[in-house]
Amino acid sequence: MTTVEILSGDVADQTPAVDDEERAVDVLGIGFGPANLSLAIAIEERNAVLAPDRRTTACFVESKDGFGWHDGMLLPGSTMQISFLKDLVSQRSPTSTYSFLNYLHQRHRLTDFINLKTFFPTRREFHDYLSWAAERVSAPVRYGTTAARIEWSGSVFEVDVATAGGARETIRARDIVVGTGIRPVLPTGIAPGPRVFHNHRLLERLSGLRVRRRARFVVVGAGQSAAEVAAYLHDRYPEAEVHASLRKFGYMPADDTPYANRIFDPESVDEFFTAPAHLRRVLLDHHRLTNYGAVDAELIEDLYRREYRERTEGTRRLFIHRVTEVSSIEEGEHGAVVALRDIGGRGETLVDADAVVFATGFRPWSVRELLGTSIPADEAYDTAEPIVSRDYRLKLDGIPGRIFLNGGVEHSHGLTSSLLSNLAPRATEILRAVLEGDRVPVR
Ligand SMILES: Cc1cc2nc3c(=O)[nH]c(=O)nc-3n(C[C@H](O)[C@H](O)[C@H](O)COP(=O)(O)OP(=O)(O)OC[C@H]3O[C@@H](n4cnc5c(N)ncnc54)[C@H](O)[C@@H]3O)c2cc1C
Repeated sequence: MTTVEILSGDVADQTPAVDDEERAVDVLGIGFGPANLSLAIAIEERNAVLAPDRRTTACFVESKDGFGWHDGMLLPGSTMQISFLKDLVSQRSPTSTYSFLNYLHQRHRLTDFINLKTFFPTRREFHDYLSWAAERVSAPVRYGTTAARIEWSGSVFEVDVATAGGARETIRARDIVVGTGIRPVLPTGIAPGPRVFHNHRLLERLSGLRVRRRARFVVVGAGQSAAEVAAYLHDRYPEAEVHASLRKFGYMPADDTPYANRIFDPESVDEFFTAPAHLRRVLLDHHRLTNYGAVDAELIEDLYRREYRERTEGTRRLFIHRVTEVSSIEEGEHGAVVALRDIGGRGETLVDADAVVFATGFRPWSVRELLGTSIPADEAYDTAEPIVSRDYRLKLDGIPGRIFLNGGVEHSHGLTSSLLSNLAPRATEILRAVLEGDRVPVR
């Protein structure tokens, strides 16, 4: 593979002697969250042992202005849901300098961390680890740049990108790896507003919000984020009431016992991928509580103890409204009146809230929205789901170009698809597929 420059459309127009292929980068990564960061490291570490003319050229575009990992939810004390050993590299290459352990070493905290006796660092610390890795990695990352459309020129992909300033450019690439992650979901019919918002940007939204001294909050949802938000608001506003609305009877504990956890093993991807469609659906249903709509048991106990203590002291601030859903919201300048309806039709509770936080989950970005008219998208999808081979390659029958999906393939590759658990092995598999035919092995 040749080392090539990445040129914008404007510059490219002034260089007619260079053809599309020469102007193309080998890999364009769309999105620069942990998934494509892990890939960027795999490319860098492989390039390090190769002569310059054998190296893979890569470039990444990221909508955000700088690196960030769900920073709106970096609540104090909230911890990782997976072992730090499932970092960006260790399951691919335990000796990589991009490991969490090396990060700790560089920050002079390795021994102190060992004394914590935990596999689960805080999310703030893990965010710092990811940011440290993103800063170190050599691949060019264009922050504040959003991929808007992918077209096939006949020999390479041409990706139309928009910068934060509104400028449009074209980046040419032989292969594309889409790592666009997840986007927040509000229930149908809920209109977001200054006081009605998804938890994804919680810290940012709260910092700009004026609330009463004895504020009142409604938190909708029964998963880990919903429970964390309820606990956080209860702590941060010591005089506020927090009303949690759950469709369930109570928060359900996340199953992180070892046999269930095997669903996140790299080897399980094979087993899941080769299973017939009905078995995949059954497995996802069985193991839903390892990841979705489930809460750390410790946090459930903590919330229960708070509520119980308040009952004994006669000063209620935390209210869990079970088997309820939001039936209406009227948002005004200073607050929002929320109706919480019993799902069994047994009445309604009105809460005059300062803010309503919907911790109602996420869904993957759809790659289909990026595919332009020159890409045969119809064959690449089975109704809403992308058809993807074991090596994460989107089925594109009409063109030789390859688009890999680094995430967003839970239906075919299993629960790790939207998580950190399998990032490092997946990066290896994608890079190996990118290099198909190349004799230099990927570590
Ligand atoms: C609060 C919270 C806590 C979590 N904790 C854990 C945990 O402990 N363990 C775990 O395994 N998982 C956890 N997850 C799941 C989470 O999905 C993964 O941690 C991780 O973010 C997946 O990485 P990713 O790179 O696939 O996606 P993301 O982190 O979502 O990154 C995708 C990136 O792509 C960018 N992007 C999207 N579209 C475009 C575009 N068109 N052009 C350019 N850039 C684009 C986005 O801005 C984003 O930065 C958590 C999720 C949340 C919300």
